[in-house]
Amino acid sequence: MPYQAAANRYETMPYRRCGHSGLKLPAISLGMWHNFGDNKPYDNSRAMVLKAFDLGITHFDLANNYGPKPGAAEETMGRLLKEDLAAYRDELIISSKAGWQMWDGPYGDFGSRKYLIASCDQSLKRMGLDYVDIFYSHRPDPETPIEETMGALDSIVRQGKALYAGISSYSAEETAVAAKVLKDLGTPCIIHQPSYSMFDRWIESGLTDVLRDAKMGSIAFCPLAQGLLTDRYLNGVPADSRAADAQNHFLTIDKVDLRLAQIKALNEIAQQRGQSLAQMSLAWALQTVTSVIIGASRVTQIEENVGAVKNLAFSAEELARIERILQQ
Ligand code: NDP
Repeated sequence: MPYQAAANRYETMPYRRCGHSGLKLPAISLGMWHNFGDNKPYDNSRAMVLKAFDLGITHFDLANNYGPKPGAAEETMGRLLKEDLAAYRDELIISSKAGWQMWDGPYGDFGSRKYLIASCDQSLKRMGLDYVDIFYSHRPDPETPIEETMGALDSIVRQGKALYAGISSYSAEETAVAAKVLKDLGTPCIIHQPSYSMFDRWIESGLTDVLRDAKMGSIAFCPLAQGLLTDRYLNGVPADSRAADAQNHFLTIDKVDLRLAQIKALNEIAQQRGQSLAQMSLAWALQTVTSVIIGASRVTQIEENVGAVKNLAFSAEELARIERILQQ
């Protein structure tokens, strides 16, 4: 069946300005790190992306290495852009990144000009695009001069291969330097993509101040702590969950056990707010960042998560209760 986007897709999602730029991002974006590679059924990946767009999610976050195999998520997006979303390209924000290991040898990792520009070209080919909307340096490189990495982002934007430049996982200090270098080059760094959730609050110790001063937006990755901040693990570890996947070393059953008491206590507050824990967790993160990048393994999770925008406000008492749980 040819895809026809929902007529009401712009009615409920808030679009928030990304720093001091012209770009507005949906409060909730969809990331394609997991569940869009060769190891997952294409039909499910397709259903999730199209449902997301129908619900007002205009921003899809990718990177060169998302798969498996590395590159496969971009190929999935390329097929979707060709077969379903071609008519909607100008309604979409497609991001990609380079910075983690992608190909063998010294030129497929970290932050050299050689790697970033070659990788951006590869990403465009895989997705069948003339340009991506945001291109990121995926991580800081302790060896390459930051001027070179930012110079590569500036070149990518000037060559028309990306509309905006961003950085991911840079420390507060590195971000201040990166923002200054890009500003001096005439290509503002409009966005930082850090990890951020109730369980991972490093950005509050300096980075958010730098972002405010540099007038940059921010978009949180892993806002649900990979599923911990949902009802997924309230009653054990389901066999089809990320924590149960032995190939996945980022979220393990041990990490679930460590957090379970907090997850249960937070879930009670969410229920009192008339929200699911996932919805409350996203609303909480959206107090600090421009947008949150959710991951999902099925359409129903996306439907539930976009419901977060119905209640983004917290009372002082709710925030204090959450804080007490997080300190435990
Ligand atoms: P989340 O913290 O949103 O975790 C997503 C996982 O949580 C899902 O796969 C699912 O797990 C579970 N989940 C989501 N919604 C629900 C729900 N309503 N109920 C129950 N379980 C739910 O984010 P990710 O870790 O997936 O990361 C999101 C994106 O961030 C990535 O796709 C990527 O784009 C970006 N990212 C960027 C990084 C960077 O270095 N810049 C690093 C990591 C991520 P399950 O599979 O068990 O169903």
